[in-house]
Amino acid sequence: MVDNDANYDLLVIGGTAGGLSAAISSLRSGLGRVRVIEPGSSVAFPELVPENKVEVGYGEQVLSIDADEHHVVVTTDQRSYRTRGCLVALRNRNPQWTPPEGVELSKNVSVDELPESLNGQDILVVGYTNHAAELAATAAAAGAGVVMAAGGIDPALLAPAADAVIRRLERERRATILYRAVPDDIGTSGEFPIAYFNDRRTPDLEFDHIVYASKRIRPAASELGVTSAAIESGKVLFLGRPEEGVDAPSGPAWEIGRLLAEACFPELELQETPSTVQRRVRHESVINELRDEHYNATITAFEQRHSDLWVIRVRPDIGGTSHIPGQYASLGLGYWEDRVDKYADAGIDGKWNKLIRRSYSISHPIFEPSGYLAPPDTEELEFYIVLVQSDENHVAALTPRLGRLQVGDRIYLGPKVAGRYTLSAVESPDTAVVFFATGTGEAPHNSMATELLRKGHTGPIVSTVTVRNWQDLGYLDAHRQLEERFPNYHYLPMPTREQDVPKRYLQDLIRDGDIERALGGTLDPANTHAFLCGNPAMIGLPEEVDGKTTFPETTGVIELLVERGFSIDRRNEPGNIHFEEYW
Ligand SMILES: Cc1cc2nc3c(=O)[nH]c(=O)nc-3n(C[C@H](O)[C@H](O)[C@H](O)COP(=O)(O)OP(=O)(O)OC[C@H]3O[C@@H](n4cnc5c(N)ncnc54)[C@H](O)[C@@H]3O)c2cc1C
Repeated sequence: MVDNDANYDLLVIGGTAGGLSAAISSLRSGLGRVRVIEPGSSVAFPELVPENKVEVGYGEQVLSIDADEHHVVVTTDQRSYRTRGCLVALRNRNPQWTPPEGVELSKNVSVDELPESLNGQDILVVGYTNHAAELAATAAAAGAGVVMAAGGIDPALLAPAADAVIRRLERERRATILYRAVPDDIGTSGEFPIAYFNDRRTPDLEFDHIVYASKRIRPAASELGVTSAAIESGKVLFLGRPEEGVDAPSGPAWEIGRLLAEACFPELELQETPSTVQRRVRHESVINELRDEHYNATITAFEQRHSDLWVIRVRPDIGGTSHIPGQYASLGLGYWEDRVDKYADAGIDGKWNKLIRRSYSISHPIFEPSGYLAPPDTEELEFYIVLVQSDENHVAALTPRLGRLQVGDRIYLGPKVAGRYTLSAVESPDTAVVFFATGTGEAPHNSMATELLRKGHTGPIVSTVTVRNWQDLGYLDAHRQLEERFPNYHYLPMPTREQDVPKRYLQDLIRDGDIERALGGTLDPANTHAFLCGNPAMIGLPEEVDGKTTFPETTGVIELLVERGFSIDRRNEPGNIHFEEYW
């Protein structure tokens, strides 16, 4: 039943993520007269206003919220409204909130305040709340490159508008969302802040500005002149926690739509925005909708080296592919995609509409079709990926879905290429460089070795890789060609399950002197950089136990190199052993 006496069905005070979500879902559910009253000059996600035909009154200050017999009456400094329901969605800075201990605020590290000039700046937003999403969207809209360190985020608990905007920013490659990482320390490099992350997979990243999103709070009812009649009407709702002594319906952004419908519009089933719809119906049209929502790149090549080993090339719709050889990007497919095997993902019903993302080193074709060495940047990124076999104990998520891809299919490509596993420490062209890889751990080395040779590196370059069978060497021919063309390049593949080759591991190549023979000299820490990539057991990273360096029980390559005087390259402590663990 529509009440024609009221000017409005719903007034939302505050164009925040939660306020916009409530307004949009109400409009979608059939309420015709919805207005957002925004005291400031802009709402959280301005692009949603025209897209959803939301009516917004900017710069309007609420003076009082009262109720008569039938309606809520909201008076602002510009006019008076009668409405069936009113949602207070304003969020204020919480003066009690401080950034984590040890974070020093400065010109480039702030709470809630974005710098005035954002275009072309690299901005890190730290936080996982709606407010963090608002800051990230504002920075991206102004032309900044945005990373959001949102460790601990649960997208289902965001306001639907914030969830949708974050996904759009990712799809359009305008922001990188780190779903697990949070900086545990902020340092400086010259005048710029560097974020050191808690997650060892996320490299140290330098930014122009770091902004912490505070946990905001709702205003007190008295600040907006809410009368007791308005509270008693039950038709004035608050976004956020309930206020002590004020008995008005309150709730978090993801739930406020339902509370609003219950309190003010019993005839309506408030529609949720597409992101939060529980897509139980596994219908082709829903799958296409999900693909459109999430995927932002196209598969341009899918070469099967054998049924479980692939070289894949990906072209992004928007944004470049620029990277430093050795770095990685992220690829993703939805759980809704079919698998190549018979296994079922645990708890698939709860995550069927979610994206699976994994990191992949950027590989390299080595040669162009013309026969020249291929340059590092092309319009596509190449990846070298192996199918991870599932069994009863572990069901792999992404690779069994990647295995079904064909040229022309769509995929998610993360916006940020990252990683400090690069050649930056190799400063002199006569340095010896040794690469150690297991399986697809060779991917970054293809790119790094090509880069060295393209730049006229004169020192010896030895690339070693261990695999099970000859057929697992996806780039064997290209490496053999490199050896023919460049006398300082040597490729030592080590299949462990072939009759014609004795079973030896990369560690044996060090112990038995094979590496030194290939180098044409000693494995000298003074003039050699070692790069280790792939299986953590091959790498053998030591742990600090009671201040003592303890190596794993099975000797890894690091232990053998350390015995020869090499040292691990660590944050703030340069060394000549560089490593990238795949799990
Ligand atoms: C920085 C980085 C770069 C990476 N680059 C590559 C790459 O270039 N090519 C690539 O194939 N993988 C790469 N990986 C691994 C990749 O991110 C995924 O973990 C892998 O593809 C498995 O994903 P999944 O969802 O199928 O399996 P999940 O369900 O995530 O299973 C993970 C398990 O699979 C096994 N596993 C993971 N990677 C491999 C692998 N390469 N070979 C054999 N077993 C593996 C491990 O036991 C691991 O615990 C990289 C990982 C990191 C952190």
